[in-house]
Amino acid sequence: MAWKIDNKKCLKCGACVSVCPFLALELTSKGIKINKEKCKLCGICEKVCPVKAITVDKND
Ligand code: SF4
Ligand code: SF4
Repeated sequence: MAWKIDNKKCLKCGACVSVCPFLALELTSKGIKINKEKCKLCGICEKVCPVKAITVDKND
């Protein structure tokens, strides 16, 4: 699974949660949580994150 988040960078703004077309992300008190079964590694969340906290690598 090549979806990674750097929780130290994350601002908990929720932008990635709003844009995920597959509803794979959730904002919790501990930060962003991913549902790995729903994520298609499309990379949209990575593009919208203002602090580049998410990295998506399809080839990983
Ligand atoms: S890579 Fe795509 S499917 Fe996966 S969490 Fe990000 S926006 Fe959602
Ligand atoms: S868009 Fe980036 S900073 Fe905002 S909640 Fe998602 S990972 Fe955190």
